[in-house]
Amino acid sequence: MELIELKGIGKTTAEKLHDFGLSDVMDLLFHLPLRYEDKTKITPIDELVGFSYVQVEGEITKSYVTQGGRPILVCEIDDGTQSMQLKFFNFYYSQKIKMKAGMQIRAYAEVKHGMHGMEMIHPEFSLGKNQPALAESLTPVYPKSEGISQKLLQKAAAQAVELLLNGAFELAELLPKEWLVENNMPTLNEALQFVHRPPSDADVMALINHTHPAQQRLKIEEILAHFLAMHQARTAVQQLNAPKLLVDAEQNRQLLSRLPFKLTGAQARVVGEIHQDVALNHPMQRLVQGDVGSGKTVVAALAMQAALAHGKQAVMMAPTEILAEQHLLTLKDYFPDHQVVFLSGKIKGKIRIEVLEQIAGSADVVIGTHALFQADVIYRDLALVIIDEQHRFGVHQRLMLKQKGQINRKAVYGTSEENTADLVPHSLIMTATPIPRTLAQIAYANLDVSVIDELPPNRKTINTVLLDNKKMPQLAMRIRKACDNGEQAYWVCTLIEESEHMRAKAAQDTFEELKNWFPDLEVGLIHGRLKSDDKQAVMDRFKANEIQVLVATTVIEVGVDVANASLMVIENAERLGLSQLHQLRGRVGRGNRQSHCVLMYQSPLSQNAQVRLQTMRETNDGFKIAQQDLKLRGPGEILGTRQKGSMEFRFSNPEQDAELFKQAKNMAVDLMMESPEVCELIIQRWQRQAQELAKV
Ligand code: ADP
Ligand code: MG
Repeated sequence: MELIELKGIGKTTAEKLHDFGLSDVMDLLFHLPLRYEDKTKITPIDELVGFSYVQVEGEITKSYVTQGGRPILVCEIDDGTQSMQLKFFNFYYSQKIKMKAGMQIRAYAEVKHGMHGMEMIHPEFSLGKNQPALAESLTPVYPKSEGISQKLLQKAAAQAVELLLNGAFELAELLPKEWLVENNMPTLNEALQFVHRPPSDADVMALINHTHPAQQRLKIEEILAHFLAMHQARTAVQQLNAPKLLVDAEQNRQLLSRLPFKLTGAQARVVGEIHQDVALNHPMQRLVQGDVGSGKTVVAALAMQAALAHGKQAVMMAPTEILAEQHLLTLKDYFPDHQVVFLSGKIKGKIRIEVLEQIAGSADVVIGTHALFQADVIYRDLALVIIDEQHRFGVHQRLMLKQKGQINRKAVYGTSEENTADLVPHSLIMTATPIPRTLAQIAYANLDVSVIDELPPNRKTINTVLLDNKKMPQLAMRIRKACDNGEQAYWVCTLIEESEHMRAKAAQDTFEELKNWFPDLEVGLIHGRLKSDDKQAVMDRFKANEIQVLVATTVIEVGVDVANASLMVIENAERLGLSQLHQLRGRVGRGNRQSHCVLMYQSPLSQNAQVRLQTMRETNDGFKIAQQDLKLRGPGEILGTRQKGSMEFRFSNPEQDAELFKQAKNMAVDLMMESPEVCELIIQRWQRQAQELAKV
């Protein structure tokens, strides 16, 4: 049913709602309240408790504008039990005149403890003796966007519920009846009605905490839809055909003998899992999770080996050019008998044409950035796609990449007679974001997950210290000492909120300053605004120990590997999230020297920043850090943009609703066996866009 059929919604408003993602009346019903306001009663002032939203009503006893500094309109009110203050930082002069002593006022807001007892800042209010009747039930508050008023959403939702009750349209009950009964859950219709229009005797606390059965009922269906969609995406890929890649034991042994180290048990196990996958004629869909420095690159190389043994191609995509170039060098070493080529945005003109010819012909291993998947890149015989540090890629980038990848495959396989069976490459995704297991099961329900849960031997844990910005001289001494010992240091500038241009400038300033501090040391500078050749030149010099102190923006966050660098300084560490700090810190501690990480901060620290920095000091364990990060910031932030897309539950929260996630998972398994048609309906109802994203 069209929105325009509702009262109060014209063409322009309907368009605005459409842009906000609400296209019809059904969408309105599933646009659930974020929270509720209780305007069903008036609370006596002497019963107020801090930090709750309440409605009060009383007489204005005094109103004045503060002098000196920013003018604040203060209204003192008294309801016969006690007095309190209402404060307005932005007000009109006319407002001040109306709010005079003797006037009756009703106000709604959060109450706080102020300097002079209880106070409300910028309450909603109405003046006068004739106040409207109290609300009969809790008032729902909806997520909204600019240009759409809360009142409009409330009115529209109320009409939608009315229509549902009148049977203007049908919403089928899709959950198993027995389950609803067993768990004492309302039906979908009842639940929707309840959350949009809670009755006056509703359990307010439960509703506010999102634990009311009506809310749980909606959440579980949402979560169920998520699992079903992920499963569907996975099954769809499983039904495709992929080249069977049996490992050539001899070639594998040769590669291993070329390594300067022995694989860790965890690496060997994960390689085994990958080799089993690629030996089947369906595409591998595997995620390898391994903390920074756990040695994912060699695992990728051993996966590639399986493709190369059959004369087929493997491609590896990295999120940055620096990282891609580093992989190029490593893989050239690992595969001296194969052609390893490189493609990124900076490769242009004649050279690009040459590389494209190689990719369509003689190349065995192709390394690069997302430029690898542009439409005109045609592979000769692509059997394995590896995506490194996948959490760094944005949703849209990956969606595009996936689509381009498919076009390419057609171009590739369509030309060869024997391959017209539409063979699809195997895919391997690697990430250093250690995701707590519970969350991984939800976010990656469509992938098999391998974990490299062991670091190479002899890694010393990085010693992390916190240092107040005031103690710069102490830091300078530390850096000097490390460099005198033949070691190298990173100095990371973290200006996050500004533009790339501002970041580069801040790094430039620091660079100049450090050059002054250490006239006899070689100081280098790298940031996102440098041309990629210049970036590479700087990294090469740092690798060769021609640069002792490298000033960098967070461009070095991902994957850069310089074993001799043993000291990392992170400026304004309090500004960064835990996962990012952990990634940055992972740039040191790669060799067998004792490494140090100095987290500089500007005092005073917020409570949250204190917890973050302490966590960094106390542990090097990426999983513990991720767990803490999850607590502090929620799942969306940790998983990055992509998972945010597919994890963006409108209503549910993987942390808070862990139990529901468990139940939904079991329910998903049963439903898939028993009623596939219902599964389809549930997915459609909840996941119009998420489904697209889940496939990426
Ligand atoms: P990441 O998992 O962060 O991508 P890398 O693959 O870059 O880690 O490996 C980090 C460093 O550890 C590299 O210098 C690599 O050569 C080394 N390395 C990898 N595996 C082992 C191992 N089993 N023993 C010793 N060193 C290893
Ligand atoms: Mg890596």
